[in-house]
Amino acid sequence: EKRALRSEVRALQNLVQELRGSIRVFCRIRPPKQPLGSGGAEAQGSRSISLRKPAGDKRHDFSFDRVFSQIASQRDLYEEVEPLIPGVLQGIHVCILAYGQTGAGKTYTLAGDRCSGEPGIQDLAIADLLKLAFNAEGARYDVRLSALEIYNESIQDLLSDPDSGRDVGLQGPQEASCERLEVRQSKDKEEGSGSWPSPFGSMRVPGLKSWAVRESSDVEQALQRIGRQRHVASTALNERSSRSHCVLSLSARSAGADEEGRRGPGVLHIVDLAGSERTKVSQAEGVQMKEANCINRSLSALSDVLYALGDSSGNGHIPFRNSKLTYLLQDALGGPGCKTFLFAQVSPDAADANESYSTLTFASRVAANVQKGRLRPMSRGSPAARGDRPDTSPRLRSQDS
Ligand code: ADP
Ligand code: MG
Repeated sequence: EKRALRSEVRALQNLVQELRGSIRVFCRIRPPKQPLGSGGAEAQGSRSISLRKPAGDKRHDFSFDRVFSQIASQRDLYEEVEPLIPGVLQGIHVCILAYGQTGAGKTYTLAGDRCSGEPGIQDLAIADLLKLAFNAEGARYDVRLSALEIYNESIQDLLSDPDSGRDVGLQGPQEASCERLEVRQSKDKEEGSGSWPSPFGSMRVPGLKSWAVRESSDVEQALQRIGRQRHVASTALNERSSRSHCVLSLSARSAGADEEGRRGPGVLHIVDLAGSERTKVSQAEGVQMKEANCINRSLSALSDVLYALGDSSGNGHIPFRNSKLTYLLQDALGGPGCKTFLFAQVSPDAADANESYSTLTFASRVAANVQKGRLRPMSRGSPAARGDRPDTSPRLRSQDS
């Protein structure tokens, strides 16, 4: 009886999540770094934000699923994500993206502040996922973590050993110690059988390492490795972490699922995007110009994909192929039962008003289309909406029926 009740509660929770839509767009304002003067971004209630550009420009208003002001806590943000964590164990793909200019708080929101010990959404989500996976009565799960960085449209494994391969001599210090990996699309679910299924559904990154994690200490160890790997990749001239996209993926599936259902894992992706600030490409040269071009292009590709997905009419083409990031994440972004959270991070400082404006414009373009899409009766579950991709990723709906 208890079990029946629990599954009914779960079905209801899933329904609520379904009704709230597949893409949700939030905005978070970080605390000011300058004394607040006139101009800059300011929360207006819990769903709107206003912005005045310097020099008496008019006021611009933007609205989102929720706006978190500078006094919002990490827990306040996590409240939005928390209800979906059990779904990851049931096979859904959740993707959390942080967007914004460098210094706007992307890493703070996701990974917290290691100095003050303030956990981020990522830490809270992983802790809950492990708790659910390993303290559950009955079902047992296997959980794995992998991490990669996309820098200049090339993919590197962040869990590879920073000390091995340093002298393999890729291309100078910028391309530091790790091997480049490729994304492949595979229609064959069981390619490379025996190994852990790809956290990217039908998209694979052959050679990407994944670590089994059971306890917070396993995760801590992995995060340290990732931190070291990112540090090695940076040089004095090039603080690379803000110039690359970092994708941390946790995948979970019930132990023994291999013999039973051969069903893919549920996945939580946490994506710390490259800083969105516009480098004036005309003024940059060499490495900087290449970086700026790659970032501009991949962030617009992301915007186009999220925009197209928000339109649930089901007849749009989704341009996943326009960047490595969207190509890699297509099963997590585009499938029915998948949930995408975009956190647009903005600075309240007047000096950052132009960048805040462009971040808010980026996010509100997606949010507006999502809101329009929600008013339509059809959901993106329609086959047409999925385009011609092979339908191999796990679906919440099929498991509940
Ligand atoms: P980004 O990753 O977007 O470049 P960071 O997360 O590194 O930005 O944030 C820049 C600085 O601002 C860091 O020192 C961080 O601790 C601080 N910060 C950002 N958001 C907040 C916040 N909500 N509360 C307190 N400090 C914050
Ligand atoms: Mg950062």
